Amino acid sequence: MKHYCKYHPGTEALWYCSHDGLHLCQQCVESREGSLTEARCLLCNQELQSTAQGQGGPLWRQLDRYLRYPFAPLLLPVLLVWALLAALVPPLPVMVPVALLGGLPAWGFGRAVMALRSHPGKARKIAVPGWDCLSDMAGWRAAMLQALPALMVMMPAGFMLVWVSVSAGLLIGALGLFLVPAFWLAIQVQGAQPGSFAAALTYIFSAPRDYLVAGLLASVGWLLGVALVAVAVDVMPLSLAQGVAGALAALWWLALACLCGDILARHGRLWGLDQGVRKASAPLEERRQWVQLCAGRFDKVLLSTGKSLTHKGATVADWQRYDRLLEITGREDERRSQAPAYLEKMVLACAWSEALVLLSREREITPGWLPASPSLRLALARGIHEQAPKMAVALLKDLHDRHPDFSELGDAYLLLAKILAEQFGLAGKAEQYLRFVESQCRDAKLRKQVADYRAAWG
Ligand SMILES: [Zn+2]
Ligand SMILES: [Zn+2]
Repeated sequence: MKHYCKYHPGTEALWYCSHDGLHLCQQCVESREGSLTEARCLLCNQELQSTAQGQGGPLWRQLDRYLRYPFAPLLLPVLLVWALLAALVPPLPVMVPVALLGGLPAWGFGRAVMALRSHPGKARKIAVPGWDCLSDMAGWRAAMLQALPALMVMMPAGFMLVWVSVSAGLLIGALGLFLVPAFWLAIQVQGAQPGSFAAALTYIFSAPRDYLVAGLLASVGWLLGVALVAVAVDVMPLSLAQGVAGALAALWWLALACLCGDILARHGRLWGLDQGVRKASAPLEERRQWVQLCAGRFDKVLLSTGKSLTHKGATVADWQRYDRLLEITGREDERRSQAPAYLEKMVLACAWSEALVLLSREREITPGWLPASPSLRLALARGIHEQAPKMAVALLKDLHDRHPDFSELGDAYLLLAKILAEQFGLAGKAEQYLRFVESQCRDAKLRKQVADYRAAWG
């Protein structure tokens, strides 16, 4: 049975946390450098189990499916090609290589079938690879390397069978072919080079139960095939019997490839095969918070978000998340005590509309609330005076009472005068503030500004 991630319902789960009882995808776990074989739970930090092994029941129960697979309409020509070429070639030992040429499409398809089925995401969409898989040069290299061990067993075994001893030929074939799927798996996992063969045996021991099914299909398929051909030789013309042998070889090849593909789908991840698992893209901390949020562990997220705010790189989004978490967890007091710092962050980031929302929210709870710091008030008023002139006036108007020593008082009142004159048409009121600036400030630039404003407003 296939499991999906608890927190990404459309994504296949690769992990299971026995502590939390959760199936999780690659995004929802902590794995070192994206490892697909080891990971920890982001909630409880315990080792996770991989869900790949033992999925979908024993393979021998699906044997009929593997035997039917080569009869898919798209693959039938592959069977026919080998059958026809084998039937047309005269029965001479020197002609054996020619008869083998008919197997080329089967070898190419066998490789493509394994590659397709080892990739669960692709195999769900397409059951059989198209003929364009034969145009893949790297694929041919792999296909040839996979054909090599099979032919090196089948050809000597065939010669023994025909010219030396039937039982010896059968035995050599059965024993040798038992190992062939391991070489195929090695090429698929390790890549198309002869060195990959060295790893073949590890796949037998890594998945012994599933491998046994593949090995037996290879051996027993050979024995049955030989038996069928022997009967065919007796009851039909020789060329026709040769055709049967060709078709059976293609059938053997494709059914075994289909089975090996499924073994790769089950165990490939643990063998390091790239199965198109999406690497976790977001930073670990972000993913941890997401999982904790999904699991309703708000307190934990609150704690880590609160910590992140003390870092230099904290953004308005971090503050917004923190504010929302305080709201969700019902910590109104904390939320209110954070408001000035939050407001300051938004002013620094020029997030004016957000700042306005926060300001109105605070003023709803405490009518007349304003940030205490005069420089914050001035900066805020500068940012919002166009969209909220009334609020800007409220921020600036009594600064000289509350903060008579504020060094930028002159700038603040110039701005206030400008708002009053230009946005409310209160030139008289504005003039009062201009006079204040004139009387209080010695700064030449400010005085010039006063003169400019007066000239502009007539
Ligand atoms: Zn997930
Ligand atoms: Zn867990």
